[in-house]
Amino acid sequence: MSRLLVAGLDGSSGVATDTLTSVDFGGGQLSDPFDASKAHAFASRGSYAGVPARNLDDLGDAGVVIIGAPFDWGATYRAGARFGPKAIRDTDYLGFDGYRPHLPTGIDALGVLKVVDAGDLLLPPGYIDESIDRIGDAVETIARHGAVPIILGGDHAITWPNARAVAAVHGDIALIHFDAHADTGNTTPTGMLVGHGTPMRRLIESGAVSGHRFVQIGLRGYWPGPETVAWMEEQGMRTYPMSDIVERGMRAVVDDAVAYAAEGADAVFLSVDIDVVDPGMAPGTGTPEPGGITSRELLDTLRRLSRELDVVGADIVEVSPPYDGPGEITAFLANRCVLEILNGMAERKLL
Ligand code: MN
Ligand code: MN
Repeated sequence: MSRLLVAGLDGSSGVATDTLTSVDFGGGQLSDPFDASKAHAFASRGSYAGVPARNLDDLGDAGVVIIGAPFDWGATYRAGARFGPKAIRDTDYLGFDGYRPHLPTGIDALGVLKVVDAGDLLLPPGYIDESIDRIGDAVETIARHGAVPIILGGDHAITWPNARAVAAVHGDIALIHFDAHADTGNTTPTGMLVGHGTPMRRLIESGAVSGHRFVQIGLRGYWPGPETVAWMEEQGMRTYPMSDIVERGMRAVVDDAVAYAAEGADAVFLSVDIDVVDPGMAPGTGTPEPGGITSRELLDTLRRLSRELDVVGADIVEVSPPYDGPGEITAFLANRCVLEILNGMAERKLL
């Protein structure tokens, strides 16, 4: 407001203060996580697979907490990921009964892990810093409670607060990152520090996650440039581009990733940008890059990593339903990514 006044524009005296950007709102949680009368119109109206809905103040004995971050104001190209959490929850042809026995194992991970859903955070569109703070606070609350947060995005900017919050609780974590893009930009194309192309840079520079703890799988295309790639090498980031996967096969690459991530780290965070999958199988995303892995490869790999490593947090990001194909194939895939992570975790717990 003071800027308006300085610029010679009229301002109401009632709001003539340069501090009035918000009122005390009480954070990003609704007391009833799925209260449609108070939530964003783009928020989810029901829990993932029908698991119990729980407020973050009332997590009880939950082992896993699903939470939505309907946020797309970090996107540099196509937005729309604010509709991601709702699409990931809704896009399922089975009953919303909180029961999903896995065909290969017979394990119902939702029951074994006591999975609950805290709904979508209330995030103010356009206000990046405030949104990032609310996401980080919520994820840290879940991790401090001793539960595993699984965050439904949202564009990839949310991995900055997600992994930072998990690292604050669990210490020296490894981050296994599926993506067509490295997301290690120093700034966004318009000079901002927070955006969907910069979260891994922020995590490393802040010290939240060490560069040598990063394993990136599926990189391809024409970004970032050589200067950023050199910076990544300096940090000791381990990257497996598509060319490696094509040459050696996904299984061999994941063998390496598992061995590397298990070496010395206290625990693991999985970050799944759905654009790691070929746009032919996952078109509903913000920055599609042709020539990716298959949906089968992603699902099997997520289950394997969650079975073989101590996964203490995960996010599924960059699902942009307005760009999804006929049949909502991207949303169906993202829904199953969550279940495969949960199944791997349940197998690890039981075996
Ligand atoms: Mn990404
Ligand atoms: Mn990407």
